[in-house]
Amino acid sequence: MLLLLGISFCLLASPELPVLKKGAGKLRYTVSDDEPKAFIRLAMRAAGNYQAVKTIKFETIRANHNKWQNYSFQHPKPTFDNAYREIDFEKKKIYFKTVSRYGGGYVFEFVTAGSDTVIYNYDVNKSRNGKRLVKGNQKTLENTILTQSAFLPYYNLKALLETTDSLSLRKEGKVTVIRKFARNGNRQDFYFSPAYQLTRTSLLQPGLVVDTWYSDYVSYQGIYYPKKTRVTSNGETQLKDEVVALSINKPFNDTILAIPAEYVLPVQASANMKASEIKKDIYLIENVQGRNVLFVNLANGILVTEAPLSSEVSRSIIALIHNTLPGKPIKYVHLSHFHNDHTHGIRAFVHEGTTIITTPATAKAIAEVINDTSGRYIDDLSKEPRPAKFELFNQHKILSDAQHPVRFYTVPSNHAEGLSFLYLPVEKLIYEGDLYTLPDDGTITPATETTRGFHRFLQMEKIVWERMVGHHGLNTITPAMLETAVQMTPAASK
Ligand SMILES: [Zn+2]
Repeated sequence: MLLLLGISFCLLASPELPVLKKGAGKLRYTVSDDEPKAFIRLAMRAAGNYQAVKTIKFETIRANHNKWQNYSFQHPKPTFDNAYREIDFEKKKIYFKTVSRYGGGYVFEFVTAGSDTVIYNYDVNKSRNGKRLVKGNQKTLENTILTQSAFLPYYNLKALLETTDSLSLRKEGKVTVIRKFARNGNRQDFYFSPAYQLTRTSLLQPGLVVDTWYSDYVSYQGIYYPKKTRVTSNGETQLKDEVVALSINKPFNDTILAIPAEYVLPVQASANMKASEIKKDIYLIENVQGRNVLFVNLANGILVTEAPLSSEVSRSIIALIHNTLPGKPIKYVHLSHFHNDHTHGIRAFVHEGTTIITTPATAKAIAEVINDTSGRYIDDLSKEPRPAKFELFNQHKILSDAQHPVRFYTVPSNHAEGLSFLYLPVEKLIYEGDLYTLPDDGTITPATETTRGFHRFLQMEKIVWERMVGHHGLNTITPAMLETAVQMTPAASK
């Protein structure tokens, strides 16, 4: 864990308020706080002397409670991430590093670093993006500074003060609420305590309320900030952040902005989704927002692998399949595990009448998305509800197609309960989600414990294969590549 200690926090019950004036027997502000922007200015003053803040460095630890990325959907346990930021507001410089952990030994470490007019992002341990450098322009740099600093309410309020969206103000007892009406129709409420402290923001979307709760305000060198932040979605905790170190007006460390020489900007390839026949009747869809999906032309219908991200993404996959093989029904979709990025497009397949092949643990989780009545999903299935069809398996399942038999296997792992993959023995082809991911540029790094378990499983089951297509990353994995990754010494856990 990257803990920076040694900074002492002075706890105060509530911050000192801005200039007060006696009037009608009680203390009143000199400025009227009935008007939204006047109120925001007062709240910004109550937040302390942020005008004096030229640079800020702060570190947070996040407990990630998102059940859709956990090992167990029914009994999720938090995973812990770290984030460290250095910002120079005057010279427009930012360094932002995150370490996030997922079940089964996945550790992703990313750095975002920029100054003046350009910003870069790279993968420190190269296990996800390899040596690919992502470049952003001045606008991306400014947005990154804005979003990262908005972690501290003062900067959030500053952005609110500068917004051209319309605002309204209401009182709920002693609490003041400012509502922002965004152009996309969303509304966001900002809740303030009687001490003008931001205690909560609430983003209101159809069927979905995302709240951010600020608490444990502390004072440090004339500024106030909340040590703890919690995000809930429809009341369910998604994450908890805690500021574990913070300092202001220390010189910005320019050396950390240097991009290690081994990282390169990729040659611009087409980002359009396309289907190509990689073996007879076996099609690979590439560029599904950086993902790979396979479909197999079986005798009695088409089999698809995974339903990524959203109904919209799955709609475009379904359209491409019908375009490629007109008139053929999409009979099956296989889901490797319940994680949202692999399954949240499932509603489009249910509407299509496709049968879901998966394990009971995966089915139990995705039933929540399929049967959702909150109104947050606005798609074909919400307009025209249809029952979901499942074919569940516990260990092993075979689709005995004459030309292209398909085998499904569950693999024990620490990544997700009920994880499975599929194998085409005639083609010697494996398709898998999150059992092994290689970056697009083919950079091989030490295998995770999930990949090591998968490798042992393939050997134990004597599965002979020539090509492996991962849902993420490179889709031409060879047995030699997997062997190399497994032979490498695992990275020390952080
Ligand atoms: Zn996953």
